[in-house]
Amino acid sequence: MSRVFSIQPQDTELVDTSYRRIVTPIPVPETLGILETLHRCEPRSMQGQPPILWDRAEGFQVYDAYGNRWMDWSSGVLVANAGHSDPDIVEALEEQIRRRLLHSYCFPHAGRAALVEYLVEVAPPGLDKIFLLTTGAETVECAIKLARTYGQRVGGRKKVGIVSFERDFHGRTLGAQQAGGIPALKEWIVNLDPDFHQVPFPDGFRMEDTRFQGFLEMLESERVGPERVSGVIMETYQGGGASFAPPEYIQALADWCRQHDILLIADEVQAGFGRTGKRFGFEHYDVIPDIACLGKGISSSLPLSAVMGRGDVMDLYGPGEMTSTHTGNPLCCAASLASLKRILEGGLVENAARVGEKLFLGLEGIADRHRDVVGAVHGKGLVAGLHMVRAGGKEPDGELAFRVVERCYRKGLLMFAPVGFGGATVKISPPLVITAEAVEEGILVLEEALVESMQELGYQ
Ligand code: PMP
Repeated sequence: MSRVFSIQPQDTELVDTSYRRIVTPIPVPETLGILETLHRCEPRSMQGQPPILWDRAEGFQVYDAYGNRWMDWSSGVLVANAGHSDPDIVEALEEQIRRRLLHSYCFPHAGRAALVEYLVEVAPPGLDKIFLLTTGAETVECAIKLARTYGQRVGGRKKVGIVSFERDFHGRTLGAQQAGGIPALKEWIVNLDPDFHQVPFPDGFRMEDTRFQGFLEMLESERVGPERVSGVIMETYQGGGASFAPPEYIQALADWCRQHDILLIADEVQAGFGRTGKRFGFEHYDVIPDIACLGKGISSSLPLSAVMGRGDVMDLYGPGEMTSTHTGNPLCCAASLASLKRILEGGLVENAARVGEKLFLGLEGIADRHRDVVGAVHGKGLVAGLHMVRAGGKEPDGELAFRVVERCYRKGLLMFAPVGFGGATVKISPPLVITAEAVEEGILVLEEALVESMQELGYQ
């Protein structure tokens, strides 16, 4: 069941701190006309987020045009890693516009060369080719295609299986959705490709058995031997809950893949570029995948994504056989190079690790004080998921999560709608430029919103 935030303006308490300012009813009555236009002209699917009319965003602050200011704990959707409207990104874009090169299809341009060279330099050894695309889902489609092509080269036509994890999200296109592990999202497909297989994700909370043996047993029960598998794709951390697998599990998985000439694909669309307190999220597992899907924070702004992989795999297709209209768009490349430099050379990975410690300290405190409703706190660096549950059990409490997010944005703390199993994860993902002081203030607001929401639902 999807919940929709009300667009009835409600009086709010006045808020005025260094990071938050709420001085009108929310949503702002003057914005209703625009919100209604969106409702009239767009599909209902676009109505899922808080009815805040973004006017300007800088650093970790989002502003409307009516004097309100939010502390952003969303980064849009984990995109603005370098901070919103980072000055270096803005300058790079302005310069590119002044030069008058806004598009070049696959014709070469220097900005694309600079970006892919930089990415190859910062990539771990072995991942030496980069293919630029536009969206995260496209990178997943490309990775699936490369794996199935590679599988057939090394193992014949039967080696095309793709193994992925239950509850994983990889995008909304046909292949990405089948690799995804959320059954409700695939109902529209009906004739599912029998060569996609899902195994439980060992998050240690909803799936307590975190032995790698469980992976093998699951495949065996479905009669899928390694000779039928071309690739294993995993979200580096599961976005729906900010949940990581145990490193030993992923290391055993990487060994198994290597042993059977199966490509290990890390979907790093969310996890890359400092989000987890490391350059790439897979570094937490001490493994190097054969392919990594990159997106979101790669540009902190304009749409750009990338497949980064082993040279022999990336070269499976000949000239002109793997292309996209907007690959390496000059503006997107300029934004992306500036974003990467800001994150990787401007100390933002380290800041994410350092401020992340404060964030988790605060969230664990909330969890300790409210064990009945906070089932688990997952994540690393500056991505966290509060798993809301009913009565100290494991049943997800989507209603509580929704109310917490709603109360937070009325208080000037902005998050996107709850995600994950039962829509019960309150997800926290501020730009990596956020300070410890701001995070501490946010934690207080979050707890206040939680307590009020529990009272509202009659939990105390
Ligand atoms: N993979 C992961 C891990 C994601 O989080 C997302 C987007 N939330 C995607 C793929 C799809 O990216 P896009 O929406 O850009 O297609």
